[in-house]
Amino acid sequence: MSDATRIVIVGASVAGLTTAETLRAEGFTGSITLIGDEIHAPYGRPPLSKHVLTGEWSPDQASLSDPDELAALDLRLMQGARASSLDVAAHTVTVGDEVVRYDALVIATGVRARRMAGTRDLAGVHSLRTVDDVVALRTELGAAKHVAVVGAGVLGSEIAAAARKRGLDVTLVGRSSELRLGQVGTHLSSLIAALHRENGVDLRLGFDVTQVLGEGRVSAIVLSDGTVVPADVVVAAIGSLPATEWLNGSGLTLADGIVCDSNGLAAPDVYAIGDVARWRDDLTTAYTRAEHHLKATEQAQAVARLLVTGEESPAVVPFFWSELYGTKIQAYGRFPADEPLRTIAGEPGDGRFVAASVEDGRVVGVVGWNMPRDFRLARADMVASAAPALSSPITTDPIGARL
Ligand SMILES: Cc1cc2nc3c(=O)[nH]c(=O)nc-3n(C[C@H](O)[C@H](O)[C@H](O)COP(=O)(O)OP(=O)(O)OC[C@H]3O[C@@H](n4cnc5c(N)ncnc54)[C@H](O)[C@@H]3O)c2cc1C
Repeated sequence: MSDATRIVIVGASVAGLTTAETLRAEGFTGSITLIGDEIHAPYGRPPLSKHVLTGEWSPDQASLSDPDELAALDLRLMQGARASSLDVAAHTVTVGDEVVRYDALVIATGVRARRMAGTRDLAGVHSLRTVDDVVALRTELGAAKHVAVVGAGVLGSEIAAAARKRGLDVTLVGRSSELRLGQVGTHLSSLIAALHRENGVDLRLGFDVTQVLGEGRVSAIVLSDGTVVPADVVVAAIGSLPATEWLNGSGLTLADGIVCDSNGLAAPDVYAIGDVARWRDDLTTAYTRAEHHLKATEQAQAVARLLVTGEESPAVVPFFWSELYGTKIQAYGRFPADEPLRTIAGEPGDGRFVAASVEDGRVVGVVGWNMPRDFRLARADMVASAAPALSSPITTDPIGARL
């Protein structure tokens, strides 16, 4: 158990807020300072691309807490306040002119969207990470006809689906020849590609964007084969950069995120959680960083519990979900690229199935496609058995062979 009486959290989004909530829930009575550089109260990002961009939700509906719940946490919330440096030896964080002291520090600064090079002065080029981003993009989509989305990851797919829902012409461009879906990787690429095509997206995979055309405002993008794709709005979903610039020179190990042990410890009394953190996985000995809402929540709970009770939590298993054109996709665990998925319920051809990733005879990941109940059961099976042999009747056909 830690004897910390002053806990400082940097980053006031889902990981930071969950840390504060869990600290109080576990009985911590000391002071909590939550420092966030956004001016908004903590909100969740998953609804931004699924519901706010389409116009179904107002930005407020993405909020993670109401003012009463925040007040009940009895914390000092510093909004619009950016931490600029960390002194590990002195146990201080600098925020503007103020030096904030901590006994324990939790870093939850997440990632920032990677911008498209050379487009800074061009109107109509967007990225999507924050609530301000989604408000700006939503406004421009209201007057747009043709949108080019750049990025073969899940965010690019979600933005393309939202733009189609708004009735816009959409071109989705990916540098890689396959579409990726979080930790599931490219296993479901052909299914996602089929979904996009059925819903009218012009899919251009395996192309770089070599030029963004326009004077003052974007008018088109040029692909590596010379194709000119007209676009009055371009959305770049081309990855992210961990928000660690303020930690340069702090002595923390920074390597595509903050390198931590399997409890999130990055330096004496300094923990990192969520999208910014690269935790050691004791099972595989790899240091992994994943951008998943629930993983951020679980790491926050684990660190808060460790600080209050001294108890370590079980390893956090990645859990991810998405929604494309009404198709609900859920994934739990790992999906090694060289292990084909195997169906355990439903049929990919029917648009409803659950599939497993099997490594050395053990289920190491399950993914559900429009089958939430069966996915839940498969996930429970995997958790209950700690995934020894296969308890479910797994077909011998790799899923890719049926598509
Ligand atoms: C549009 C979108 C849709 C998504 N959909 C899904 C989904 O369907 N499923 C899923 O599992 N995950 C999804 N994600 C990922 C999920 O939102 C992230 O995993 C989650 O937000 C991580 O939380 P976090 O608190 O670690 O980091 P963040 O949410 O990035 O929060 C970090 C906070 O710290 C602030 N900050 C940064 N630097 C400083 C500093 N120096 N001082 C003070 N504050 C600072 C940032 O401004 C930010 O407010 C989505 C992400 C986006 C952008």
